[in-house]
Amino acid sequence: MNPKTHNPKLITYNLLFNEAKKYIPGGVNSPVRSFYAVGGVPVFIKKAKGSKIYDTLGKEYIDYCMSWGALILGHAYNEVVDTVKKAVENGTSYGAPTELEILLAKEICEAFPSIEMVRLVNSGTEACMSAIRLARGYTGKNKIIKFDGCYHGHADYLLVKAGSGMKTFSSVFNVQCSTSLGVPKDFVKHTIVVPYNNIDAVEKVVKKYHKDIACIIVEPVAANMGVVLPKENFLKELREICDYYKIILIFDEVITGFRLAYGGAQELFGIRADLTCLGKILGGGFPIGAFGGKKEIMEYLSPIGKVYQAGTLSGNPVAVTAGLTTLRILKRNKEKIYKSLESKTKFLCDSISEIFKKSKLEVKISQIASMFTIFFETPKHYAKFFHGLLKQGIYFPPSQYEACFLSLSHSEEDIAKTVRIVRKIL
Ligand code: PMP
Repeated sequence: MNPKTHNPKLITYNLLFNEAKKYIPGGVNSPVRSFYAVGGVPVFIKKAKGSKIYDTLGKEYIDYCMSWGALILGHAYNEVVDTVKKAVENGTSYGAPTELEILLAKEICEAFPSIEMVRLVNSGTEACMSAIRLARGYTGKNKIIKFDGCYHGHADYLLVKAGSGMKTFSSVFNVQCSTSLGVPKDFVKHTIVVPYNNIDAVEKVVKKYHKDIACIIVEPVAANMGVVLPKENFLKELREICDYYKIILIFDEVITGFRLAYGGAQELFGIRADLTCLGKILGGGFPIGAFGGKKEIMEYLSPIGKVYQAGTLSGNPVAVTAGLTTLRILKRNKEKIYKSLESKTKFLCDSISEIFKKSKLEVKISQIASMFTIFFETPKHYAKFFHGLLKQGIYFPPSQYEACFLSLSHSEEDIAKTVRIVRKIL
């Protein structure tokens, strides 16, 4: 694009998308952003503030994607922006330890009683990958159990019956896509997949293979195949099985951490994991991830232990500042904040549910705290709903397998407007 002839008014999404597709595979840097599942061309975002995002043509949308759950305060939250600006002026990366990292590590350990020590990484993918390596290194065992439809990032051996984009695209193309091309069979031979919420299936597998099972990794609330709540006692029974057979229980709280409660799913359900993976909210909108747990296990990590793990930008001062500020804001007023997020979200879901009851469409609305999904009979129905909303200035995630999120910045007017629009488009 020639900046001299660049006239924003003439730029359509089509032009931008075609330009993007020339240089970036599929025009996007992460698959689900592509709108493949809902059809059409993605809107290109120029800026965001509070509950709203604005596209290149200046159109405003109430955002329920919130950077896939990373932004619990809202976009460009003043206090976060101010501290980040100051952090940037002090340099953007040192590759040496900082006091800030200690502060964030302490905040994480205080929020999650199961975490005695924590290491920062750059994404949720890295957090899960490293936690599993650590579990294998600590136990000296190879096999892992994951659940069908749960997503733990895109490490080779975790792309087996995974949720999120893998679920979206296998439904779009109507194929049973259990893993990705490029992942050798040998790499996934230690991954055992079990149906979510099926404790009998877990027990059966564990009885058979427990001598070689290092860990069970689970999304305590599954949020990458629509929002699916754990059945009563499912997590508790997982904990019991892991204790009995000395298997490491990993809670992937990349979405649920600081989202369901300040102390994540572990606070909400009163269960402690051995290792916990974090991301999204922890970075306040910047790339970050973390994994942590019992000191005894964490001390297996390099440089004091023999499990190697590293990162050039890990503990990046700008990301750490954004995360630390976000956590402090949440903690300051946590009871009020989480209560208000929950009641706003419940009101929105109840109102939408009432509207659907009067229509002929069958939907399943699933909600917990400030996240929810509206699940239609077919992806085609969702696509219609999604585009109806988009046209009216409401941005939902472009796949019904992905969760919707509210933030502190979503106002009662935003919710009322969303309900009005849902009623109108139906
Ligand atoms: N775990 C869960 C539960 C996730 O939802 C995601 C991403 N949506 C990841 C891990 C991977 O995180 P990232 O995209 O930051 O690598």
